[in-house]
Amino acid sequence: MIGVSDYLRRLDFESVRDGGSESWERARLADDAILLQTAESEFVVNLADGASSHVCEIEERADGYYGRCDCDAFGYGHHECAHLCALRKADFIGHLDVEGERITIPETGTVAERRARADGGPPRAPSGDLDHEDVEPPSGHGPEPRWTGQ
Ligand SMILES: [Zn+2]
Repeated sequence: MIGVSDYLRRLDFESVRDGGSESWERARLADDAILLQTAESEFVVNLADGASSHVCEIEERADGYYGRCDCDAFGYGHHECAHLCALRKADFIGHLDVEGERITIPETGTVAERRARADGGPPRAPSGDLDHEDVEPPSGHGPEPRWTGQ
């Protein structure tokens, strides 16, 4: 979404994943978890473990993920909250939201920035980041073959 601004916080998912963080563990995509993409970079997340729904905003920039969430954990400075972790996981595995649309974290930044990253940037960690991608398909397209050939 144009206009998503700098109040989004840098999200270090690698740290929380590798550190065995509670948020990352809690962000299991259970069958009764509810994720709904309400705008290009806005989602509603309910992890269905008794918590309420939260509104998240997340996007991928040239230097990493940025986002925010209206939950308490995020408000207390724990920016990689369970809801944002769940979205990161959902994007990685091609999880579908409650309307059957594939969860896709949008990329921002210029095409030139992305090309620099793909062609001349440092190798990305094997964390599911995409090295070979063009423009994301519009929502409504199914999972792409790149997710099934691994
Ligand atoms: Zn949250």
